[in-house]
Amino acid sequence: MQRTIWLYFSADVEPPVLELLQRRLAEFFPWSVQLGQQIGLEEDEFVPSRGQYRAALVLKRLRKLGPSGDFRLAIVGVDLFEAGLNFVFGEADARHDWAIISLNRLHREYPGRPLTPDLFCHRVLTEAVHEIGHLVGLGHCPEPSCVMHFSNSLVDTDRKGPGFCKDCRSLLYER
Ligand SMILES: [Zn+2]
Ligand SMILES: [Zn+2]
Repeated sequence: MQRTIWLYFSADVEPPVLELLQRRLAEFFPWSVQLGQQIGLEEDEFVPSRGQYRAALVLKRLRKLGPSGDFRLAIVGVDLFEAGLNFVFGEADARHDWAIISLNRLHREYPGRPLTPDLFCHRVLTEAVHEIGHLVGLGHCPEPSCVMHFSNSLVDTDRKGPGFCKDCRSLLYER
């Protein structure tokens, strides 16, 4: 089925990030990628004691936005969390074809891994492909180098990358 991936973004997301996703996501999915509109975040989605936004609340509000039947991805600069998790890089609501990723932690460094523009791009693309993979119906993959492997840290994200393993790729093309 022909579908489109729509990109929505908060004001703090820089244009090169959107250009990267517009250009590169089509390498991983058989659909076109279009730029949607700028979105805001609401006060009741923010938890002051944590300094983070709750991903599920943002996704719930976004549900009605954009063309139904297409995949929609929000890109935000703020840090996100979910119940039971200190933070999330992103979250997907496959029932409503909406996902979100946060750039907040993708700028960070850890010992032995200085941040370069290439590394940042690699992380953004990896997190975006992962969440869209969930929208397509893919679950977490046991293969550590596969984009659908669960990522609990930047070390995990940097180890995998945006590519699907053979099994996930065939599942993707069955759908
Ligand atoms: Zn996941
Ligand atoms: Zn896989």
